[in-house]
Amino acid sequence: MTTKLDGKALARKLQEELKVKVTQLKQDGIQPCLAVILVGNDSASQVYVRNKKKVAQKLGIKTIDKQLPQTVNESELVDLVTELNQDENIHGILVQLPLPESIDEDLVMRAIDPAKDVDGFHPFNIGKLFMNKGQIVPCTPKGIMRLLAEYQINLDGKKVVIVGRSKIVGMPLIALMLNANATVTVAHSHTKNLKEITRDADIVITAIGQAEFFDMQYFNSDAIIIDVGTNRNEAGKLVGDVKRDAVMGHVAYLSPVPGGVGPMTITMLMEQTIQFAEERESKCNEKNI
Ligand code: NDP
Repeated sequence: MTTKLDGKALARKLQEELKVKVTQLKQDGIQPCLAVILVGNDSASQVYVRNKKKVAQKLGIKTIDKQLPQTVNESELVDLVTELNQDENIHGILVQLPLPESIDEDLVMRAIDPAKDVDGFHPFNIGKLFMNKGQIVPCTPKGIMRLLAEYQINLDGKKVVIVGRSKIVGMPLIALMLNANATVTVAHSHTKNLKEITRDADIVITAIGQAEFFDMQYFNSDAIIIDVGTNRNEAGKLVGDVKRDAVMGHVAYLSPVPGGVGPMTITMLMEQTIQFAEERESKCNEKNI
């Protein structure tokens, strides 16, 4: 039997708790506020931004939209980020990725005030994460850790294989898993004998972006699988990197697509925005003492 790691249900529960926090903050005169910068007309990015704004609205978080044309240049974008950094009423700044190729993504990430870096991509925050001092953590890896904790999955000494080494998923997960005392292996497109590596793992996190790539040959029957992939199959259906129907029933735990990591990611974004608003409130209170 496979236990489903139900990110959708956990996200719903956490969002109820976040709504209460927002109400409390509003009573203290603080309106959590997230600024969202979207560059160009990428349809997937537009959908992601729309979904984020919908959840923010549901929780009572204000959002400020900054839509810029594809032709915007780096310095205009950095100027906008600087302006948002200085606005005391904005607690979190999100720059929807990917940016147009003409723009240096790292430069824009570095322009964000690390204390408003709600996505956790600023090098300062990534560095702190790798020193096990991170408070601000990229949302997808944070959501994965929270999901595992909810099901009381102990990571200490576990063999964890992360397939994919991107800046937004695999890389931060390495730090989080090491910080949790897991034994971590990272696989990527140059890895040889992937099947043997994943089959030997207690926990496998798949984040390669290839529809239904992993079947049961990649896992042992006691494995815990976290599928991060968000892909469309040939029929246009949303599927993960894992062949869900082939694996369900044959591993110990599975976080499926849809209904697993996706809802957790968006919830962690909201949690981090609210956390920043709370921190601002406590700083204001300290100043008033
Ligand atoms: P990237 O394309 O940035 O990275 C993919 C990684 O997978 C790379 O490290 C690449 O290796 C590796 N890879 C590709 N093919 C293989 C293969 N056949 N075997 C082993 N490794 C391989 O993707 P992202 O990390 O941005 O996203 C990964 C997936 O997760 C996507 O489907 C994305 O949509 C989804 N996603 C879902 C989120 C959610 O909230 N649910 C959030 C973020 C992403 P190399 O480095 O060598 O190129």
